[in-house]
Amino acid sequence: MSAVPDLLDFDELLTDDERAVRDRVRGFVDARVRPFIADWYERALFPTELVPELAELGVLGMHLRGYGCPGRSAVEYGLAAMELEAGDSGLRTFVSVQGSLAMSAIHTYGSEAQKKRWLPRMAAGAAIGCFGLTEPDSGSDPAGMTTFARKEGDAWILDGAKRWIGLASIAQIAVVWAQTDDGVRGFLVPTDSPGFVATPIGPKMSLRASIQCDITLTEVRLPSDALLPQARGLRAPLSCLNEARYGIGWGVIGAARDSYATALAYSQTRMQFDRPIAGFQLTQQKLVDMAVEIEKAQLVALRLGRLKDAGRLQPHQISVAKLSNTRAAIAIAREARTIIGGNGISAEYSPMRHAANLESVRTYEGTDEVHTLVLGAHITGIPAFR
Ligand code: FAD
Repeated sequence: MSAVPDLLDFDELLTDDERAVRDRVRGFVDARVRPFIADWYERALFPTELVPELAELGVLGMHLRGYGCPGRSAVEYGLAAMELEAGDSGLRTFVSVQGSLAMSAIHTYGSEAQKKRWLPRMAAGAAIGCFGLTEPDSGSDPAGMTTFARKEGDAWILDGAKRWIGLASIAQIAVVWAQTDDGVRGFLVPTDSPGFVATPIGPKMSLRASIQCDITLTEVRLPSDALLPQARGLRAPLSCLNEARYGIGWGVIGAARDSYATALAYSQTRMQFDRPIAGFQLTQQKLVDMAVEIEKAQLVALRLGRLKDAGRLQPHQISVAKLSNTRAAIAIAREARTIIGGNGISAEYSPMRHAANLESVRTYEGTDEVHTLVLGAHITGIPAFR
């Protein structure tokens, strides 16, 4: 199902190009994801065969310009994220990790040679990237990372561990953040480097059609040009996270919308007490609350997109969308499941899968608490992180 509530004629706020991108990605999801996702999810399978098709669709590094990247607007990227996540958060997560994290890091902080070597292949889906910031003992507070890169002559030697790193076991290139004598720096680590080991984490109860890994780095020796020259300090990885968080603010609306549409359709045909359950006031209240929240979330996301395209988007504004839209989406997915009753726990219906996925989404790229603290600091002027 992909019915949209559209109480406020949201479409009128979009350009023809934006609607065209959205419809193209929606068509792809309907044809290539929807019929298969329940099976992939149950078997905990990430469909790598879709990677070239996603490249063809123009969603890898979608908002980046030059170096073979699609160069689309922030709003177009957001709409694509929303449609992908209507299929499954795992699919949108792939696009976020590849484009907003790994490619963004190289595009923003890489040397000309690094950009020319990696970005065209990554946009074409011929190379997969991952982004290693989180560690077993350092999540919300990345400043606590202990992975260390030491200089030995011209070479860098990396030692440490990363956890929850999306795509690491199928990636060709890892963007790895490490402490150095000169503060936090970023490195491009080919995943076939001796000493680099990525092990998928499982079994998982969320984002099952998606890969996250533990990484160990044991005396990984890199040439001097593996360093991302423009990335200095934690500000660099945090700026990449902001790119991904922007996409999440849109993406989660897709999961919410698909949950709503599935529940609505079910409620119109499911008969109890001699009438469709959609005819009960209590069911209508649930559906109305969902539709209203989806409309609000879309307006927040679009406002962010317009600000981003104008070059005026601020980090605390991204926190508004990441926090509020994810919170709304998970509530909608859970409520949608109740409308489908017992059948709602079957893999045949999407809301429970979306709800389980959204548990990951509310945790990665800054938890609810972290974004609350970002906004708290912005509003009061008093950081309360520690
Ligand atoms: P912790 O930081 O230990 O937090 C645990 C709880 O404590 C949370 O509720 C948190 O909000 C709360 N908390 C922490 N500090 C405070 C505070 N100051 N005040 C109040 N509450 C606080 N990382 C990558 O680098 N690359 C990836 O590709 C990647 N992909 C991921 C994919 C998935 C599916 C998941 C689950 C995670 C992924 N991550 C990735 C890691 C993710 O970013 C972290 O899980 C996240 O930052 C939270 O860190 P943590 O899990 O260590 O939790």
